[in-house]
Amino acid sequence: MREKKYRYFKIIIKKLKMKYIAFTILYILLFIFLMSSPACSCMFTLEELHNTQVHNILLIILALFIWEFIFSKTLDYLNSKSWKESLPDELKDIYDEEKYAKSMKYEKTKHTFSSITGIFSFILMLLVLVFGGFGWLDDLVKTFTDISLLQSLYFFWIIFLIQTLISLPINYYSTFVIEEKFWFNKMWKKMFFLDTFKSLVLGVIIWGVLLSAIIWIYSIAWNLFWLYAWGLLTFFSIFMMMFYSSLIVPLFNKQTPLEDWELRSWIQDFADKVWFTLDNIFVIDGSKRSSKANAYFSWFWPKKRIVLYDTLIKDLETEELVAVLAHEIGHYKRKHTLQMLAFSIIQTGSMLYILGLALNYEEISQALWAITWSFHVWAIAFGILFTPISIVLGTLWSILSRRNEYQADEFAKNNYDAQKLESALIKLSRNNLSNLQPHPLYEFFHYSHPTVLKRLEALRK
Ligand SMILES: [Zn+2]
Repeated sequence: MREKKYRYFKIIIKKLKMKYIAFTILYILLFIFLMSSPACSCMFTLEELHNTQVHNILLIILALFIWEFIFSKTLDYLNSKSWKESLPDELKDIYDEEKYAKSMKYEKTKHTFSSITGIFSFILMLLVLVFGGFGWLDDLVKTFTDISLLQSLYFFWIIFLIQTLISLPINYYSTFVIEEKFWFNKMWKKMFFLDTFKSLVLGVIIWGVLLSAIIWIYSIAWNLFWLYAWGLLTFFSIFMMMFYSSLIVPLFNKQTPLEDWELRSWIQDFADKVWFTLDNIFVIDGSKRSSKANAYFSWFWPKKRIVLYDTLIKDLETEELVAVLAHEIGHYKRKHTLQMLAFSIIQTGSMLYILGLALNYEEISQALWAITWSFHVWAIAFGILFTPISIVLGTLWSILSRRNEYQADEFAKNNYDAQKLESALIKLSRNNLSNLQPHPLYEFFHYSHPTVLKRLEALRK
């Protein structure tokens, strides 16, 4: 029944797959032609665009936006071409022919789907940028109220709502067709919609409060705006780190203390051995959404808690689980949690500093067709202008994170058992159908963890 229901989807996807590259190239060529042709000037005869500076900023915004798309799609394309048809020798420890074929099929299905949705959102955003969608929305929210703070809030809430509505069918397909097909999905439809609703409400509230505070700071502190906003966001991220698992996670999942006494005593013994004061071990019911396994460590101030997915406990044996925990404790012992926090604080600070400098340029918001100055349109334009720097910062973050993974593995190796960690890593990547041979460039920019092959190699050294 299900197969039949989605047949049309599949046919459309198959057809689009063959043509999507051609479509994109054609569209970009057409766009460049439009922008450079004299006929194009008629698109920019609106009063606010007489200013050539504004026009140039729009061109830079568009160029960056298109560049980022081409850049990320090139990486995706390279990655999709890096799969080998038959099982490579180095993967023979991990996959058999059948599992390998399945993992490849999973990657390909995900790739095709993300290409289509990526192109769809790219074209949509491009049209919004070229035809002044943000300026139009700015005009609209100005008719709701005269208070600029509320205008900005309505502006972002409407965008957030539209974004949620657009991603709803995308997430739906990805969960109930792709993940379902590969036996990962465990979610009911009711739960899916409830999750979406909860995230929407949560997003509206949290972003609403943060944005109001930022805009309020902006209205009183002009030049020092970036510094106060930095303080606020730093406070917020530390707060989230401390209370995420006690405030946000319970809205979606149940966390119960680990009741398996044998496992508990194994973990406790190891924690005592490495002088790690463990306050509690929790199990989270990840299995109600997906069969994929995971573990994380959280700092529930003033207590340290380790959270294990029930799927992880199901997949691994006791000593493999302890090895995974040894890795997590390794992150803590090597101060990775603090280091990543410091990195993200510096990242936010540098972004806000540049933002503060750029605030003086009113033309930036006019470039997105806002007739008068408005903070929210300006912020959107800035977000796009900031793309290259955010790619660089994101890549640095990935490099740092990959280095930390090696260090945490080494900690587990030195203090527990390299072989148990190896077998745990192999089991996890097999069960999650991980792509073990990404293109090196794709890995460089996107992977927060080294591939399992590299981790095994390092462990065996
Ligand atoms: Zn790790």
